[in-house]
Amino acid sequence: AKTDGRGRARTFTRSMLVVLEQREMLRRGLRSALQEGQFFVEYQPLVKTSSSIAGFEALLRWRHPLVGIIPPNVFIPMAEADGLMSEIGQWLLERACQAAITWPPHFTLAVNLSPAEFLHEGLTDRVAQTLDLVGIRADRLELEITESVLLERTINNLDTLNTLNVLGVRISLDDFGTYYSSLSYLKNFPFDTIKIDQYFIKDLEADEKSQTIVRSIIALAHGLGMNVTAEGVETGGQAAWLQKEGCDRLQGYFLGFPMPAEAIGAFLRKSPAG
Ligand code: C2E
Ligand code: CA
Ligand code: CA
Ligand code: CA
Repeated sequence: AKTDGRGRARTFTRSMLVVLEQREMLRRGLRSALQEGQFFVEYQPLVKTSSSIAGFEALLRWRHPLVGIIPPNVFIPMAEADGLMSEIGQWLLERACQAAITWPPHFTLAVNLSPAEFLHEGLTDRVAQTLDLVGIRADRLELEITESVLLERTINNLDTLNTLNVLGVRISLDDFGTYYSSLSYLKNFPFDTIKIDQYFIKDLEADEKSQTIVRSIIALAHGLGMNVTAEGVETGGQAAWLQKEGCDRLQGYFLGFPMPAEAIGAFLRKSPAG
């Protein structure tokens, strides 16, 4: 094959073009995806270290008619950029609350908020209305935000978090330890839970640095009166270590994969934890 520099450059350009065209196609499709009923929600168990189920986290998926299932890391940034995420998020919140009222009444529902959703002016009203409409207790809802959400508009952010707090909604700090990890957030904002990012969990068994970091985050959270959830728990060894170190809740493939709402009943019957 003729693989001179020009040939390679041309091939590279073409594949880049294909990627761009695919992105454009996805972006166009995103505009009508909600109306077309292409979004669905999966639920991943959150498990107490005593091994009983604490609740589920709602995770958004897009079933594209041509491409198939597209992961949220691909389409959520596009939806954010095009101003669509607030509406999609509202749909998910309602949907997930409707699923959660069919669960045992002590189960919590965790819902992620992207920056655009959190910064949306109507957020707190919408959350209050949705809880009211569905008839679900506010303290069963946990909203997960990342530190990146808090970078701007600090005063208003505090207002928003305080309003949610007054409603009785729980707030989790997601992906802790990645982003900018300014500890001032922990001092200034009313979080109920810190979620340790899976980056620190994946090497836990072999890597002493990860162990030291995770141990410190657990101590920090507990010292501040917060709970800790470890995410991305994939092995029994990781689960046992985290349990020994006093982590409150575990989430990850070892405890359960994300599943459709209809599969939760069977999961709970099967699970010794249910
Ligand atoms: P996240 O909130 O940190 O969610 C955890 C991600 O890790 C999920 O990916 C989940 O499927 C995956 N995961 C769970 N257990 C394991 C494990 O043991 N090992 C590994 N390797 N991965 C695991 P997913 O569903 O692809 O979601 C990716 C991200 O997209 C989420 O990260 C969240 O930031 C965002 N996202 C998902 N659903 C929503 C939503 O409804 N609204 C908003 N705003 N963001 C969402
Ligand atoms: Ca999350
Ligand atoms: Ca996370
Ligand atoms: Ca993440």
